[in-house]
Amino acid sequence: MTSAVSTPHKATDFSGQYIDGIWRAGRSGRCQADRNPYDGSVLADITLANRQDLDEAYRAAEAAQSAWARTLPSERSEVFLRAIQVMDARKEEIVSWLIRESGSTRLKASMEWSAVRGGMFEASTLPPRACGRIQPIDIEGRESRTYRVPLGVVGVISPWNWPMHLSNRSIAPALALGNAVVVKPSDETPVSGGLLLASIYEEAGLPPGLLNVVNGDVAEVGDEFTLHPIPKFISFTGSTKVGRRIGELAMRATALKRVGLELGGNAPLVVLDDADVDQAVRAAVFGRFLHQGQICMSTNRIVVDASVYDDFTERFIAHVRTLKHGDPNLPETAVGPIINRRQLDGMLAHIDAARSAGARHVVGGDPEGLVLPPQVFIDVDNQSALAQSELFGPIALIVKAKDEADALRMANQTDVGLSSAVFTRDEGRGLRFSLQIEAGMTHINDITVNDSPNIMFGGEKNSGIGRFNGDWIVAEFTREHLVTLQRTPRRYPF
Ligand code: NAD
Repeated sequence: MTSAVSTPHKATDFSGQYIDGIWRAGRSGRCQADRNPYDGSVLADITLANRQDLDEAYRAAEAAQSAWARTLPSERSEVFLRAIQVMDARKEEIVSWLIRESGSTRLKASMEWSAVRGGMFEASTLPPRACGRIQPIDIEGRESRTYRVPLGVVGVISPWNWPMHLSNRSIAPALALGNAVVVKPSDETPVSGGLLLASIYEEAGLPPGLLNVVNGDVAEVGDEFTLHPIPKFISFTGSTKVGRRIGELAMRATALKRVGLELGGNAPLVVLDDADVDQAVRAAVFGRFLHQGQICMSTNRIVVDASVYDDFTERFIAHVRTLKHGDPNLPETAVGPIINRRQLDGMLAHIDAARSAGARHVVGGDPEGLVLPPQVFIDVDNQSALAQSELFGPIALIVKAKDEADALRMANQTDVGLSSAVFTRDEGRGLRFSLQIEAGMTHINDITVNDSPNIMFGGEKNSGIGRFNGDWIVAEFTREHLVTLQRTPRRYPF
């Protein structure tokens, strides 16, 4: 099959792949409709890649990378500064794709646009930050130098929930640090998770081959994406189940490779007895219902001290009742559609199971299409299936804690540890409490959903391996090469 070639300058007719700077169809012979989860309309017909397409993408990346790694740091920085201008010029188009393709509310889509833009700005600062070290060494006449150099080709696999940001969170720093990239977006978000970004970087003048987008069926290209000998690092963001598989494949591959695994969460938001209850309520509502709860850092469990429990619960329910649900394009909508039928059915099954198990369901409502109105359960057992599941939907649950020690014990009663939050008026207490939470990130008096491009991001336990942003991503997306230099002849024992 020959490839259809198109060049979507303004990114309106994406059809499949972006490989070696060419917009073209995939060679699998199969097509997949990219649909709007709110109204079911078809946004694009994506022709899927086969393994040959994937191989070509990796080869194109490898061929382009070494010249890119030799460019001056400022040349790489400038690509990102131009990309920011493209982001600004095309803001409404980008926000619109995020609303239509991933069911983002207008608010969330604007937040995601800002996150991508911020990530590009941070990336513009990275090229001169890949510093090595010269160290003293206890051997006469010797110098020890540790160089920091690009890895080569980085493979990126991203999810659908913040598709553009979570792809760009890996793509931008990888490119800035002199690597080339092949990205496989989620099949729910082939445009905002990959093709749209490629068109932005193309317009910003990124040379061909450095960023390649492969949209393919996981059954066909999934394992090969990690097993392929060219990528040196697989940056995966998604579920813990798939992340484990990626990790296994990376260790099994003929050419061993590094992995970054950013996986699922079950974030607790703890309200201590001295908290500003009103502020805690607002944070819990926003941190739970933003993007319909489909965020790895979403507030999955609200753990409230018994002394403020009734007050908190009453105000929380009242606030949730004010939230509007429905068309994500309307500025006033707080809760839009779930990404697909399968995910919605999963949420409905959780609600039924919790009700059967006797949980108190105090705010509810039936789905309208894929829009599930906000749901609230109170007096929930922290060990119940509801509390122990990552609920990727607009379902809030409140757990009562006897005291601070009980709240801490329950916050840690989970096999994942990505984000968390604690509300208290006592700064010292908040810091002591935070450091005992088994998670990568804890926010005192703020929502659990936080990601700033220069601030460390990452999880503990089954939430994954690896770190993002700032100096942490410089360490991840470069390798260190030790070179020692013996200036005077060294005496050996024999
Ligand atoms: P998912 O694991 O189902 O899919 C993630 C990506 O992996 C998609 O691109 C998918 O096509 C791909 N994939 C699936 N099976 C694969 C295979 N066998 N080989 C190669 N690729 C494969 O996750 P999802 O449903 O898209 O996203 C939701 C999950 O992501 C949640 O668990 C959420 O917590 C997690 N997440 C984590 C973070 C984080 O930073 N820790 C951020 C966002 C989402």
